[in-house]
Amino acid sequence: MNDSTNKETVPVNGTAAGSATNPGTNPVEGPSDFIRDNVRSDLAAGRYDRVLTRFPPEPNGWLHIGHAKAFAIDFGVAEDFGGQCNLRFDDTNPEKEDQAYVDAIKRDIAWLGYDWADREFYASDYYEYLYDLAVKLIKKGKAYVDDLSDEEMREYRGTAVPDKYNITLTPPGRNSPWRDRPVDENLDLFARMRAGEFADGAKTLRAKIDMAHPNLVMRDPVMYRLRRMPHYRTGDAWCIYPMYDFQHPLSDAKEGITHSLCSLEYEIHRPLYDWFIQECEVFPSRQIEFARLNITHTVLSKRWLLRLVQEGVVSGWDDPRMPTLSGLRRRGYTPAAIRDFLSRIGLAKTDSMVDIQLLEHCLREDLNKSAHRVLAVLDPLRLIIENWPAGTVDELEAINNPEDPSAGSRKLPFSGELWIERDDFMEVPAPKYFRLYPGNSVRLRYGYIITCTGLDRDPVTGQIKAVRCTYDPETRGGNAPDNKKVKGTIHWVSAAHGIPMEARLFERLFPSERPMEVSAGTDWLATVDPQSRRSVAAFGEPSLATAAPGDCYQFERLGYFTADPDTAPGKPVFNRTVSLRDSWAKIEKKQV
Ligand code: ATP
Ligand code: MG
Repeated sequence: MNDSTNKETVPVNGTAAGSATNPGTNPVEGPSDFIRDNVRSDLAAGRYDRVLTRFPPEPNGWLHIGHAKAFAIDFGVAEDFGGQCNLRFDDTNPEKEDQAYVDAIKRDIAWLGYDWADREFYASDYYEYLYDLAVKLIKKGKAYVDDLSDEEMREYRGTAVPDKYNITLTPPGRNSPWRDRPVDENLDLFARMRAGEFADGAKTLRAKIDMAHPNLVMRDPVMYRLRRMPHYRTGDAWCIYPMYDFQHPLSDAKEGITHSLCSLEYEIHRPLYDWFIQECEVFPSRQIEFARLNITHTVLSKRWLLRLVQEGVVSGWDDPRMPTLSGLRRRGYTPAAIRDFLSRIGLAKTDSMVDIQLLEHCLREDLNKSAHRVLAVLDPLRLIIENWPAGTVDELEAINNPEDPSAGSRKLPFSGELWIERDDFMEVPAPKYFRLYPGNSVRLRYGYIITCTGLDRDPVTGQIKAVRCTYDPETRGGNAPDNKKVKGTIHWVSAAHGIPMEARLFERLFPSERPMEVSAGTDWLATVDPQSRRSVAAFGEPSLATAAPGDCYQFERLGYFTADPDTAPGKPVFNRTVSLRDSWAKIEKKQV
């Protein structure tokens, strides 16, 4: 069994705002899981009288499917309780943030079908408010200006050490010599930090909590640092920037967020989250954590994905091998398939690894319903029909989608020279090979039964240049007389009518199942498969000439293919979205 399906797994509410079911105005009803149960009891106890969540991306990279899990939960929980969800950019680090990331993030959330309407906020709009709260803490004797350098601070903080029983101990840290500065001096120094009187790194503002706290996060964390760097929204207005742990809970409070839902790595930060809220005496937002999404053969961390982009391992954030929403979209993933996947994996309270084949299975299920079937040949070999009447073109009827009769049918031109797939022919057949070989007969999809009569070779290289056959006019379009049953059906494209096109075939970027767990001393980047992208010159049936970027087809027997944005008029480029073989369905069958 897929190990994400543990007992604590319950459905993420898969309903997007666009397809809203009945919002649960009655908080007692609706789906149950550990987050919703907490929300429900908070409402029942009168802790809050409404539900407001937020999705807080930092605009320093593009969203990946792990973020989609997070915002599906944020929007889903709000919707279930008749509440709302804010989109808040947590943009308080000028070094890595950019408007281009904001735009990409908004586009991807909307693509998945979630609508934040006018509830769009920026932590960088709260700088003045956050500054005032910092002053409040200084006045309460709960914050101080420190002169220790980063390195000294680390040393004073102490580190966790495993003892001989392998229990991690956290020996107490030491107080900074500046910890007991008088309030007035702190107020003066903090104002002068803001005014730009000190060099970067010369001073910080720290919360005065407890240098002996067993949780290192609580040992006088830094609230503000000096950083002379223009911010993409506030420009040069500030040279001090708030740290995440200070900014985040207070931004939540400012917006009146009731439930601040986040992934599990923030669990150890929760005491600090609560400390800032309590000491600043602001709205009591509550943080609840859920498991991070991990998928086999995939890295889900912006830092890692950024490295793939920066070092040119992939063509960009939207490379079809990337687990970013834009990469998945370019590959041909549909919002419905991703939402189905998210609803199946559930919330989970403990981190787990989800099999990537489940994601691919959800995609196949969706595409199977909607994708038109077409014929294309990826590795072309010429087939010559020796008894075809010269100059004649037949038009064969082909159905567009057996799953959807309303999709109708189309005409396929058929002539005396065709392209077939190179591996649909073997000069000396392997055991159980039912396709074409000298003397054997196969059916051409939607067309005739042919019998192989021989082959042409290149006189110099000895390579097979063409396969020869004869056709039986009586067998047109599946009308095979009973004595003419054949075991194999192969696909084809008429050589005179085929559209030349590029097909991009992908393998997993990471052959290793858990690329993020590389052994020490190994660079994970070196584990990327350099052959994970291949481009082949293919031929497609004429209807593919009009494919527009994003159009998805099933190339019969080959897989689902989606037209790439590189498609030019008359020169389609297709990405193989996913093959037809569904190993997940087999796994599921075995479980039953
Ligand atoms: P990364 O580790 O990829 O850099 P991040 O957490 O730093 O991600 P943010 O922009 O801060 O990126 O994330 C926004 C929200 O998405 C956070 O609330 C975070 O908890 C959530 N999130 C990030 N990655 C995942 C994941 N793999 N599974 C579930 N939630 C995630
Ligand atoms: Mg983060």
